Amino acid sequence: MSISIRGISKRYGIQLALDNVSLDIGDGQIVGLLGPNGAGKSTLMKIITGFVKADSGSVSVCGHDTAAHPFEVRRLLGYLPESNPLNTEMYVREYLTMMASLSGVKDKTRRVEDIIRLTGLSPEAHKRIGSLSKGYKQRVGISQALISDPKVVILDEPTTGLDPNQIVEIRELIRGLAKDRTVVLSTHIMQEVEATCDHIVIIDHGNIKAQGTVAEVLSLAAEGRQAVDVEFYADVDPVRMSRELQAEVDEVGPRRFRLTAPATDDDLRITTFRFATRHNVPLLHLSAQSEDMEDVFRRLTTDK
Ligand code: ADP
Repeated sequence: MSISIRGISKRYGIQLALDNVSLDIGDGQIVGLLGPNGAGKSTLMKIITGFVKADSGSVSVCGHDTAAHPFEVRRLLGYLPESNPLNTEMYVREYLTMMASLSGVKDKTRRVEDIIRLTGLSPEAHKRIGSLSKGYKQRVGISQALISDPKVVILDEPTTGLDPNQIVEIRELIRGLAKDRTVVLSTHIMQEVEATCDHIVIIDHGNIKAQGTVAEVLSLAAEGRQAVDVEFYADVDPVRMSRELQAEVDEVGPRRFRLTAPATDDDLRITTFRFATRHNVPLLHLSAQSEDMEDVFRRLTTDK
């Protein structure tokens, strides 16, 4: 197991940022921490890296307890903080060489050149960091996280603020990293985890709401629920429909609705068809729907 998190809680004053979080992350996985702003993702990452102390619980990285062996853990980890603090006055190569020295890298020159190649920085490596585009600055941040060739890489919101082309490039870079290491990234964007990660952990209000592969989280969330999309030829009263069908009703367009109900022996398609017949409203469309990741995310992280 690369990372083992047991019963972590953290408060900032009265703000509970993490509430008894436990999580196991296996070797070689790309894990996405997905949650709205303020969910606790950055705090969890800072606790894994040892930059912030938890109030209770424990974290171990590759078998080393972060509280008991902070220096060993730092050596095993690479970390891109959310703000990606870089020395903008320095040149790319100069900065990475300094970071390599600080990390105790043996063959610095070679390592810096390898990393520059790996992260696609070659055309920009001779430039001052301050003059780079946001996408290239992010590559420099990822490069410093990788400079010591860590087994575990923690990337806090690695694609935030990038344009669509840069996002695709950074995603490819991240996928490439996972060949021989564990990557944990955080994001508030669903497509990010679907595009990049093997595993997803949905966090909200300091709690883990769901975790597993994308397929597992979707099927877990769908369990016990049925959903139907329906379009009528004439107006129907949504409140009455909700009451008669014992279903949640979302109006998604003119005379079009998404109905959701607990899974029972009554197929929602049949009861909806009978509702239309009973009220003499012709049906234009009726189909069973499965939730996509966006529906699941919204349902699990929206205050009701
Ligand atoms: P996320 O990364 O998911 O956006 P954070 O871990 O940054 O969430 O924040 C979780 C909660 O803890 C939020 O309510 C945030 O305001 C609070 N928080 C985070 N860092 C601090 C801090 N240094 N001081 C006070 N409150 C903080």
